[in-house]
Amino acid sequence: MTRGWVVGVAAVLYVGTATTAWTQALPAFTLEGLTNGAWAAIDNAAAKADESGSNAGFVIGADGVLVVDTFENPAAAKKMLEAIREKTKLPVKYVVNTHYHLDHVAGNAVFAGAGAVVMAHENVREWERTENLKFFGEKPTAEQKAMVEGLYLPDVTYEREAMAYIGAKHGVELKYMAGHTGGDTVVYDAESNVVFCGDLFWNKTLPNLIDASTKEWIETLDTLVQDHPTAKFVPGHGDHAGGAGDVKAFRDYLAFLRDAIAKAQAGGAKGDAVVKAVLPEIKAKYGDWAFPEFMEPDIQRTDEELRGVKRLPPVAKK
Ligand SMILES: [Zn+2]
Repeated sequence: MTRGWVVGVAAVLYVGTATTAWTQALPAFTLEGLTNGAWAAIDNAAAKADESGSNAGFVIGADGVLVVDTFENPAAAKKMLEAIREKTKLPVKYVVNTHYHLDHVAGNAVFAGAGAVVMAHENVREWERTENLKFFGEKPTAEQKAMVEGLYLPDVTYEREAMAYIGAKHGVELKYMAGHTGGDTVVYDAESNVVFCGDLFWNKTLPNLIDASTKEWIETLDTLVQDHPTAKFVPGHGDHAGGAGDVKAFRDYLAFLRDAIAKAQAGGAKGDAVVKAVLPEIKAKYGDWAFPEFMEPDIQRTDEELRGVKRLPPVAKK
């Protein structure tokens, strides 16, 4: 998705050769070890090849591995599978997609090909091959269409929750929570006390609100902090796992945004005037967060939401 790019290349000096190479690129992601076999795979925004585009992670149990999200391209997903293979020979039993957005599902086929069952909320299967097209603008190319329409869909879906077992008594909890798309799953591993939030949590990073319902989202974040006060929270974007305080700070951004926009609307502001009124406040309070390019769209999307005219992905009738 659109992001702020930082130019950076890790330099490696090859000694003993006729020429000196400074060309080693940054890896797509960095593994952050949490506790008890849980790992976060943190996106390197500065990587120039095989971009992961989002964070992911995995949990190693006694019987197998559960992977959370598969990045925005298969090459990065392959690297994660290799990284898992270096840590354990146990099978990758499950992949959980935290939501349908391209940057979290594009490597599904890599893990399915290695024998994993892909699990997700039912709306991920509903939206993955259709709603992802909007990220390519009004006129996606034939190649982009083919890519989206060829994405690997979840094999198993659920409406509210599921347990995925990676040990005799080691169940990882998958739970639908509202706010970011209407099809998001929070993955909680009690053994490690780690919550993989997908894009329900952006750590010191401005979020993509394209499909968001911020009122429900704030309630979700309050619940997460209440239920898991001592947990580590892996964000969908942001350069490290956070604690409850970081989740609360993100919750407060959404609440601030709603309040500031409601005030501007109450003062009679419409359209660009709402952006003009709120932008300086966001810059002052959140100017040091990543993805500043989301400031304006965040205002526009939330303005639409508060006016009751925001488009959300259509939910299939049962
Ligand atoms: Zn994302």
